[in-house]
Amino acid sequence: MKLLTLALGLAVLFLFSGCSEKNALDKDSVIEESSEVTNSLREIQEALTSTGPEEAYIPILMFHHIEPIPADHPDQVFYGLSFAPEKLEGFLQYFQENNIKTLTFEDLTNIFDGQMPLPEKSVMLTFDDGYTNNYNLARPLLEKYNMVGNFALISEKVPEGGFHMNEAQAKELAKTQHICSHTATHPNLNEVSQTQLLSELKDSQIYLQSLTGQDVKCLVYPAGKNNEAVRAIAKEYYEWARTTAGGKTIYANQKYTLPTVRIFPTTGVESLKTWFE
Ligand SMILES: [Zn+2]
Repeated sequence: MKLLTLALGLAVLFLFSGCSEKNALDKDSVIEESSEVTNSLREIQEALTSTGPEEAYIPILMFHHIEPIPADHPDQVFYGLSFAPEKLEGFLQYFQENNIKTLTFEDLTNIFDGQMPLPEKSVMLTFDDGYTNNYNLARPLLEKYNMVGNFALISEKVPEGGFHMNEAQAKELAKTQHICSHTATHPNLNEVSQTQLLSELKDSQIYLQSLTGQDVKCLVYPAGKNNEAVRAIAKEYYEWARTTAGGKTIYANQKYTLPTVRIFPTTGVESLKTWFE
């Protein structure tokens, strides 16, 4: 597989070097091609130096609100994005009892670089949007079980606080939990200008890194939206990017289209059993 990647990479390089001559006067296409060549070179380099696995079964669970919302709540979208804290605790107990390790994206990098052994059973917990209830209700549970979640914060919501966790809370959270970017303003990345796209990915990273002191290398695309242009910028600044597409296996060559498992208010431990046993 690595040899195939290498062969494909070389073929891409060959093709682009040919195209560049033909379109030598088209500045935009030359810039675009040179960045693709750079990416191809990087992929070849990664394929040659990586000693980690090419795939790993690690379900990445996707949570939003951790709050007990009644099923007949008038805002059904809110209900649909909620998960009761006692149910989360049930999940954590299950992980503890079954020796399922909770991983950060940094662990994932180390596993795929061959620097950390792949645990026999592992899971990733991702919390989207950075709601204050994540700080108040999910964080204490994770700390109680000595487990770790990955919290995707919308950087421009943090200074506002209120519904979303504020700066003091985000800093406190980062002491025990892993921080990811969920962009600066949570737009549909497929529809923003190239300038905004860059600022959404880069500025949110700069802000979150300086606030939390963590190296923020994971991105969660708002509503999972991504296209080639979005992924190209993501590759410049991040090591991993999660979508909302369903799946439980992580492939080394799909670091910018990571799948997830959507958790519904009704998802129970029975589901975990089918995924881990
Ligand atoms: Zn979101």
